[in-house]
Amino acid sequence: MLRYVVGIDVGGTKIAACLMDEEGKMPGRATFPTLASEGPKAVIGRIKQSFFEVLKQGQIEQNQVAALGIGMPGPLDTKKGIVKNTPNLPGWIDIPLLQILKSEINLPMVLENDANAAALGENLYGAGKGIDNFVYITISTGIGGGVVLNGRLFKGQDGNAAEIGHMTINFDGPRCGCGNQGCWEAYASGTALARFAREKIAAGEATKIKELAGEENIKAEHVFAAAKKGDKFALELIEKEGFYLGVGLANVVNAYNPKRIAIGGGLTHEWNMFYDRMMQVMRERALGASIEGLEVVKAALSKDVGVIGAAAVAWSIC
Ligand SMILES: [Zn+2]
Repeated sequence: MLRYVVGIDVGGTKIAACLMDEEGKMPGRATFPTLASEGPKAVIGRIKQSFFEVLKQGQIEQNQVAALGIGMPGPLDTKKGIVKNTPNLPGWIDIPLLQILKSEINLPMVLENDANAAALGENLYGAGKGIDNFVYITISTGIGGGVVLNGRLFKGQDGNAAEIGHMTINFDGPRCGCGNQGCWEAYASGTALARFAREKIAAGEATKIKELAGEENIKAEHVFAAAKKGDKFALELIEKEGFYLGVGLANVVNAYNPKRIAIGGGLTHEWNMFYDRMMQVMRERALGASIEGLEVVKAALSKDVGVIGAAAVAWSIC
C-alpha cells in the first residue's frame, strides 16, 4: 500500500496544503486564505480544514497518512511544537499548535521553521537533489535560509538555526526588524533595496525609479525596471545589491562549506541582473578552499517550495 504524508505551509497571507505520496506526486492540493487578523483559533480551524480537504481530494483515509508536517515562520519551539511569536500572524504567542491539532488529527506531527522546511524540500525534490551539504537561501522581503549538513537538516537546539538573514554584516548598520543592527537582510533583501532607493530619492536623487513607481510605494521591482532602462542610479543600487549579497554569501560559505547553494525568493526573478557581481564578491571574500567545488544556483521549486518543504519535513519523521 502506498504511503502518504500531508504538508501544510502556514504563511501570513495563505495556507497551502498538499497530500504527497512516496514518489513525490501530489494527488491533493488546497489553498486557503490565512486571514491572520481573525486570530489563532480561526487560523488553526483553516489549517485543519486544509488537512481534511487534501485527504478528500486524494480519496484516502487518515490511517493511510504516515505523518503531518507543518512549516511556519519562526521563532518556534520545534521540539515542543509551539509557535513562540510570529510577527506576520497577530496573536500567535506561545501557541501549542501540534497539541491543538492532535485533538482532531491522530498522526505523528512535526513543526518546522518555514525556511528550514524549504531547504529540505529543495534538497529532496528541487535544486539540492542528492547533495549532502546544501544551503537554501530565500531573498524577498527578508532573507531566510536553511542548511542541510551531512544529509540532515541542521536545526539547532531549538529549531532556529541558520537564521542567516540576521548575521551582522555591519555592526554600525541600519536597524533590522529583529532589533539588531546591520543584519544581512537590512542590506540585501528586496525591502532594503527599495529602502535605499527611497532614501536617496527623498534626498533629491534624479532617477526614473520614481516615474516607474508612480503613485505606488517604491519597491525593488521598480529599481530593476529602471535599471533595465539604463537608469544610472538604479544600476548603482543593483551593483550594491550584488555586492551585499556576495558579502553575505561569503560568510555562508565560510560557515557551512556547502557543495551547493540554491537561492530562491522574489529577487531571483532578476537573477541575471545581480548574479555576476554577487559571485565575484563572494569569490573575493570566501576562503579559497571552500569555493573550488561550490555551485550557486537558482532554486527550483518556486512558489511551491513552502508546501513541498512541509511535506519533506513530514517524510523526515517517517
Ligand atoms: Zn536582523
